[in-house]
Amino acid sequence: MKFVVAKTAGFCMGVRRAVDMVLDASNLSDDPIYTYGPLIHNPQVLEMLEKKQVFKLDKIPAKGEGIVLIRAHGVPPEDELALKNAGFTVIDATCPRVTRVQVIIDKYAKDGYATIIIGDKKHPEVVGLLGYAKGNGYTVTALDQLDGLPKFEKAVVVGQTTQDTDFYAQIKSWCKTNAPHYKVFDTICGSTEKRQKEIRDLAAESDAVIVVGGKQSGNTKRLAQIAFQAGKPAVHIEDASQIDYSIFSSAKTVAITAGASTPNWIIKEAYQKIKFNLSKQHAGKTRLFQLRDFLLKTNILAATGAGFLTYACSALQGISNDFQHALIAMLYVLSMHILNNLFTVKSDAYNHPERADFYKQNRTYLRLLAVLSGAAGLYLSYDTGVLSFVILLFMTLLGLSYNLKIYSLTPKQGRIVKIRDIPGSKTLLIVFAWGTVTCLLPAIANQASPWLVMVVFLFSIGLVFSRTAFFDILAIQGDRITGKETLPILLGEKTSFAIIQYVLIGEIGLILLTSLTGLLLKTALLLAFIPFLMLLLIRFFKKDSLISGVHRELIIEVLFLATGLLAVII
Ligand code: SF4
Repeated sequence: MKFVVAKTAGFCMGVRRAVDMVLDASNLSDDPIYTYGPLIHNPQVLEMLEKKQVFKLDKIPAKGEGIVLIRAHGVPPEDELALKNAGFTVIDATCPRVTRVQVIIDKYAKDGYATIIIGDKKHPEVVGLLGYAKGNGYTVTALDQLDGLPKFEKAVVVGQTTQDTDFYAQIKSWCKTNAPHYKVFDTICGSTEKRQKEIRDLAAESDAVIVVGGKQSGNTKRLAQIAFQAGKPAVHIEDASQIDYSIFSSAKTVAITAGASTPNWIIKEAYQKIKFNLSKQHAGKTRLFQLRDFLLKTNILAATGAGFLTYACSALQGISNDFQHALIAMLYVLSMHILNNLFTVKSDAYNHPERADFYKQNRTYLRLLAVLSGAAGLYLSYDTGVLSFVILLFMTLLGLSYNLKIYSLTPKQGRIVKIRDIPGSKTLLIVFAWGTVTCLLPAIANQASPWLVMVVFLFSIGLVFSRTAFFDILAIQGDRITGKETLPILLGEKTSFAIIQYVLIGEIGLILLTSLTGLLLKTALLLAFIPFLMLLLIRFFKKDSLISGVHRELIIEVLFLATGLLAVII
């Protein structure tokens, strides 16, 4: 059975922006935080926000304190004023596309135009829009309602941003025929349009459709409607537990989409469970996939990649067959990554639900593996020299203290600072640690030339940075929820992608330059393929849907193995 996940599934720009704003406020402020109305129509997200002490404010009290976030739907201007007058600090997370409609209505209402809003008068966005119509606003949900409206001398027509595009096209055509003097604006959000078009196309090509998202969410319900209209078996679920698998028994291709208020972690979880259950009905999960998942979850593949990278770094420094340092790097990375995963089961529940379950179920064995591999790495490093041992011990202690509460900056408020609270720390610490074990330890033990060490160190940390920052981008929603400080959270996804690309281009340039100038052997040119391939893959993955996370992880890790294999030729 084949699964196709819609590229447009999941948070739209406006919802993501609002969720990010409230999570940032909750991570940075000690004030009480509220959202005016439910932030989004998704029960799991609301539950997550309550756990983070972000509560819903349904009515504006006469007096209040703390922060109130206006959700992406926006509010009438008088509500915003009332919140401020009550004493709240207001964060306006109205989606910029909704703000545009508010501005249109406000501008024309001031000039005496009537406002016709194509949308449900009870929908919060429409309630907010009506607030800008200066008491001269009307809502329409069916074509014949237009005939029942007064014949306005001047009117603007706007649509609720999540309105059905076909219906809005009919409205426009009615206006053209019956009231050509009305000013009609295209206000349907491009994101909604794309999402609806994609599910229409996917439904036509697939045998069944699954729509994931809140049952109260207007845009998710509309996606489900489109799927039902396509005449294929379709279900609208809030999570995988609600699905009746029997209706998919004869399906060969299943399309999965999700509403604009459905976070990635719910789509991932639903997708993995659905895929597992439906695949079981057909062929069963192959042993190969199980092996792949095991190697990824236990970090054995990442650790082996670190070992292969070390072998390559040593070869570039003229140290041949350096298996001992490769093994030290492998053991260190295995130990640190497992320990880190044990500490982050909570955020993994959002980013990697399967991995979180795996770590919960196998906690004891994984702890043992982490301790044994860490100890074995230290033992081997002692064999290569006292300095290497001290450095590795320091790196181990740094890795161990990453998640521990180590220092209270503001004791009055009881806020504890951990290394992980330092902005960008997770990404940078991993890069520094890998750079040390893959390049510096072999260099120290073999007294390699400083210039060579510098070039190889840059090569190693460039690859590791790109790998780590890319994985951090994939995990950004869960990391933000749990307050983990990664570079993409600090700089944003776009900037992080741009930096990754510059780093990889820099890597290619570095290899070319140093090989052609004779600092590295000519055969080292082959290694320029690794950053080049990573660059291509990351650019390709950026466009791809969010679901093929396991494949993406696998391919990136395999690139590190390829680095070591290419180094054999050097
Ligand atoms: S659907 Fe469009 S208009 Fe509505 S919040 Fe999302 S991006 Fe904004």
